[in-house]
Amino acid sequence: MASDDCDVLIIGAGIHGAGVAQAVAARGHRVVVLEQTAPASGTSSRSSKLIHGGLRYLESAQFGLVRECLRERRVLLRIAPELVRLRPFHIPVYRNTRRRAWQIGVGLALYAALDGFASDSRFSRLAPHEWSRLDGLDTTGLQAVFRYYDAQTDDAALTRAVLHSAQTLGAQLRMPARVTRVERHAQGARVFYRSGDAERDCNTRVLVNAAGPWVNDVLQKVVPAAVMLPVELVQGTHIVLPGSLSQGMYYLEAPDAARAVFVMPWRDALLVGTTETPYRGAPEAVAPLPAELDYLLDTCAHYFPAYRGMTRVDIRSAFAGLRVLPARPGAAFGRPRETLLHTDEPRRPTLLTIYGGKLTAYRATAQKVMQRLANVLPDGGAHVDTATLRLDA
Ligand SMILES: Cc1cc2nc3c(=O)[nH]c(=O)nc-3n(C[C@H](O)[C@H](O)[C@H](O)COP(=O)(O)OP(=O)(O)OC[C@H]3O[C@@H](n4cnc5c(N)ncnc54)[C@H](O)[C@@H]3O)c2cc1C
Repeated sequence: MASDDCDVLIIGAGIHGAGVAQAVAARGHRVVVLEQTAPASGTSSRSSKLIHGGLRYLESAQFGLVRECLRERRVLLRIAPELVRLRPFHIPVYRNTRRRAWQIGVGLALYAALDGFASDSRFSRLAPHEWSRLDGLDTTGLQAVFRYYDAQTDDAALTRAVLHSAQTLGAQLRMPARVTRVERHAQGARVFYRSGDAERDCNTRVLVNAAGPWVNDVLQKVVPAAVMLPVELVQGTHIVLPGSLSQGMYYLEAPDAARAVFVMPWRDALLVGTTETPYRGAPEAVAPLPAELDYLLDTCAHYFPAYRGMTRVDIRSAFAGLRVLPARPGAAFGRPRETLLHTDEPRRPTLLTIYGGKLTAYRATAQKVMQRLANVLPDGGAHVDTATLRLDA
């Protein structure tokens, strides 16, 4: 059994593990990332692929989150121009949709204000003669269409780019490396992992648990036992349909008004998502449900008549990912989306767990992790600003 040491050991090479690895390495610390499968093999390849402020979070008054995400959108548009692109989004308002035109207008004005009225936050209301250019959008009962801008990415490619940046700064990635046991001690932790047929271990001053929907599974492997936050896993499914959109993205209210659904151009097709279904199984077993496929097909067909009559056999592919939300009563849709950083030793954390979060805010999350670890990590000498490091596709 081989043993070696590092300052920070990160479990998981999703966007959070990659982002924290980059931030730790940028400060000159020794960092190792253990990934059981492949970078971005978890939630970070199954998102809606948006780098956005989260317009709908304004309805639940999550202003801090929206402002932070808009700031990060600006940074990513600058440092990752090949991976993050600004796109026009359209919000149609019909006679029978729940949100009225004035509400959308107020929301977009607030969104622009939270972005400091930067040029990327411009929005407009399309004139009725422009509606016919909107990719076959149904105009029956249509009362208004708003256009604003947010960004789209390839989530898995972005994760790999951040990880590559971390490795360039000195981070080590070990893969496949599945963490099987963690023994905490006064100086940090000894982490045991399986790599193929070999069992290995690594001593670390700090352990960062960035295992996405597996976070509490990882905490169950910790001795002495670590405190776990009660969470719910909520499944979100996307479908890929044939076709193309020339005008950008559509932000739609599902016919049951229960949630928002995006219809977006994706590669040479359409991506439609997402659902929110409580999930209780093993994270690796998550898969789209027939009812979710029908819900997304119905929503798409409701707004785009050309898709009426399409059935499950027309779906090119589908994927499901898991949101990690604080366990609370009520529908998942309005639940807070803030990232929770949890440790049972707030002053000198040696084990820090990342719960939930946004792809968009990964860099901000990594900065917060660094602040939490400031008392435990010695000055590593280097201070590279990740807001200026270019990320290449
Ligand atoms: C349906 C859906 C849509 C979303 N859309 C958006 C969006 O459009 N924009 C946005 O900003 N955010 C979005 N999000 C949120 C965002 O995708 C997630 O917050 C983010 O991807 C989570 O990344 P992560 O690194 O925490 O987890 P993951 O990407 O799941 O990474 C965890 C990693 O840990 C590894 N791991 C687990 N256990 C072990 C172990 N024992 N040993 C070693 N490795 C282990 C896994 O293999 C995995 O690679 C969406 C989320 C969902 C579910």
